[in-house]
Amino acid sequence: MLSVLNHPLADHIITHLRDETTKPATFRTLTYQLTLMLAIEATRDLATEEKAVNTPLEAATGRVLSTQPIVVVAILRSGVSMVQPFLDVFPDVSVGYVGLERDHVTAVARSYYCKLPPLKGRRVFVVDPMLATGGSAAQAIDVVKANGAVDPRLVCIIAAPEGVAEVSKHHPQTSIHVAVLDRGLNPRKYILPGLGDFGDRLYGT
Ligand code: URA
Repeated sequence: MLSVLNHPLADHIITHLRDETTKPATFRTLTYQLTLMLAIEATRDLATEEKAVNTPLEAATGRVLSTQPIVVVAILRSGVSMVQPFLDVFPDVSVGYVGLERDHVTAVARSYYCKLPPLKGRRVFVVDPMLATGGSAAQAIDVVKANGAVDPRLVCIIAAPEGVAEVSKHHPQTSIHVAVLDRGLNPRKYILPGLGDFGDRLYGT
């Protein structure tokens, strides 16, 4: 299931991310801001419970997050840029990393690095800014499921329809949260209109 952020501020940020004149420092700030919006949207159904508090004026009953910890799993390298917003707003977050590379002969992505906290009983979000072919995302979801994640979600900044189709083919139950759905891939598997290579834009490489 695909969910696209539909918000004027998200549109504003995406346009500046696309702009080739945007410098890495600004690009990183915009990535932070947009991921924060995505994190809030992707956690809309977190469980809450009642809590009684005293305001300075009277007793009140509110709601607080139930104690299901969150795990953010970043796909290396660009996914790392989407971790901090989750850490900043949620009370109990741990972080995992999955590194994937494509085998030059078989063209199948394989995991060269995997460091995960316990995933059982936790709400798991796999983060990767560009959902292009969907190969890495589908594989990362395989990895987290194999390590105990139930109903992991995928959070991306820009998706191509090809990537959404690939992830949905392998993981039909997985919710995919994106800021924008672009037109498609070029022959080199870059998203169009996209924003170029996300890692290069982030780190000025
Ligand atoms: N990864 C990127 O960084 N950009 C694309 O367009 C596709 C994949």
